Amino acid sequence: MASKEIQVKEYTVRAHKRQIHTRVFNFVCKQCDRSTSRETYGPRPLYCETCRPPGPPKKSLVEPKKKAKPRPMTYKSDGE
Ligand SMILES: [Zn+2]
Repeated sequence: MASKEIQVKEYTVRAHKRQIHTRVFNFVCKQCDRSTSRETYGPRPLYCETCRPPGPPKKSLVEPKKKAKPRPMTYKSDGE
């Protein structure tokens, strides 16, 4: 298999400000039935910030089950 060298350019991204389009929705929370407003950049929210506080999305709450792997046991056979 032939191999060759390629030149990889270095890219530098400078810190910059980015404008995201948010808008304030006035809506009634589905959970507490109170009219509230919430700033969002996505679709219309369904819940107020009290019921659904903003935060980093949790990727998964599935805990890996602690299951002891069956270890191969070495039995010493005595008296053979
Ligand atoms: Zn609510």
